Amino acid sequence: MSVTEPAPAVVPAAHEAAGILRRQSARESAARTYARALPIVPVRARGMTIEGADGQRYLDCLSGAGTLALGHNHPVVLEAIRTVLDSGAPLHVLDLATPVKDAFTTELFRTLPPALADRGRIQFCGPAGTDAVEAALKLARTATGREGLLAFTGAYHGMTAGALEASGGARDVRVARLPYPQDYRCPFGIGGARGAELAARWTENVLDDTKSGVPAPAAMILEPVQGEGGVLPAPDAWLRRMREITAARGIPLIADEVQTGVGRTGAFWAVEHSGIVPDVLVLSKAIGGSLPLAVVVYRDDLDVWPPGAHAGTFRGNQLAMAAGAATLAYVRENRLAERAADLGSRMLAGLRSLAADHDCVGEVRGLGLMLGVELVDAEGSQLAGGGGKSGGVAQQLPYDHQVPHQRSPLPQQPHPQPHDQSHPHPHPHPHDRPDHSPHDLPDTRPHPADPDLAAAVQRECLRRGLIVELGGRHSSVVRLLPPLTITDEQATAVLDRLADALTAAERSHRRAATGRPRPDHA
Ligand code: PLP
Repeated sequence: MSVTEPAPAVVPAAHEAAGILRRQSARESAARTYARALPIVPVRARGMTIEGADGQRYLDCLSGAGTLALGHNHPVVLEAIRTVLDSGAPLHVLDLATPVKDAFTTELFRTLPPALADRGRIQFCGPAGTDAVEAALKLARTATGREGLLAFTGAYHGMTAGALEASGGARDVRVARLPYPQDYRCPFGIGGARGAELAARWTENVLDDTKSGVPAPAAMILEPVQGEGGVLPAPDAWLRRMREITAARGIPLIADEVQTGVGRTGAFWAVEHSGIVPDVLVLSKAIGGSLPLAVVVYRDDLDVWPPGAHAGTFRGNQLAMAAGAATLAYVRENRLAERAADLGSRMLAGLRSLAADHDCVGEVRGLGLMLGVELVDAEGSQLAGGGGKSGGVAQQLPYDHQVPHQRSPLPQQPHPQPHDQSHPHPHPHPHDRPDHSPHDLPDTRPHPADPDLAAAVQRECLRRGLIVELGGRHSSVVRLLPPLTITDEQATAVLDRLADALTAAERSHRRAATGRPRPDHA
């Protein structure tokens, strides 16, 4: 793929890259993140390709943490930005009305579930997803007059105080933490539809038991697919149960679609898979077309907060609104959500074929082009919770990992959607097992997460020109978030490079474990 010609001034000579990286590590905060695992100096980017100052090219499956729905520097995005720049329009207008903002809002409302769009209000927030989460929580607290919040294990909603409170790592008493359904690390040990139903019943019980210690909450906040939590798509039936449970009790349901929105999961908005209509939708990342933008859209009857209730200087980023409107329109007109569903399910099948060759893959999961490969220590103890690597008694999973497979990185035949429960998984899920009475629940535990192996896979991917993200509870999930514009050829290249990286990392990991010297990665 060709890469746009850069302005010469911003492109350092290749030998300067090392200096830039050295100065970064000397001057930037210890809290920096991606820069640690991805020591590259991007100077040009187009579509899915990033070029480093050293001339190396990479396929970018990080996409600005899921922001770049159309990849880097898409022509329609550049054109939209240039049009605003050339028009002489003000770039900064607080929350004043402008034609650019009007066009963005019109395009956004056009994509929303009609039941929300018809009665929708929009609040432009400070330019990060976390500020939109703050706004949503404040809105719900104002509308209900209540304080408490229902949120889920493994959630990630951002880094400001309220969003952190709602996230899985928090220890705040105002937040009641509820189980998020998942198969491989199901808190009830059974996964599948039954595990999800138990999670729903737990939620119901917490709300209805007058002695549960959880007062009536201001809202429930959830991600339809947990991204940072390790790529966990919530079952549609569970989402519908959450909608019913909250609606029946007058609890506003906030869907955080900061990461899942704009076609990423194979529907324009991830809530469309289940058909639920949340009361509040939190949006950021891709809606700004690669520039910072964040909004909350909610039903009009919640709109009872006073003027200035959620202010902020940077709520009027005209370039982001123009880039965002162009992105939303392009995704809609080119049916990129459908493309994400189709290619995503083929990539998922390819990853599952790959998994069948590697014991270290605990689970492959995802929805659309939001994919994850959880890496585990297959020889490690299978502990309750599956988190640590020490202690515990090893137990055999009661199912066979040797499932026939074909090693075809990107199947061309249509595959069932990831939510299709009939689709055989190369590593059978707990929900494939027969039902058990409470007394003979199998004591099956997931293998311990292997964050060291995941980090090694990420490094090996980078060496092969592939940028991937790590996520999940133990940073052991290799995440793929390619742009929705990824071609079939690029998808095959991603799977090939990941397969090679996995083999290389596994080999060096094993050698390290047996005390032999590590290979020099020639
Ligand atoms: N909500 C979700 C679901 C996210 O994934 C993120 C970021 O990854 C946020 C909120 C916070 O967004 P931001 O990093 O822009 O503050």
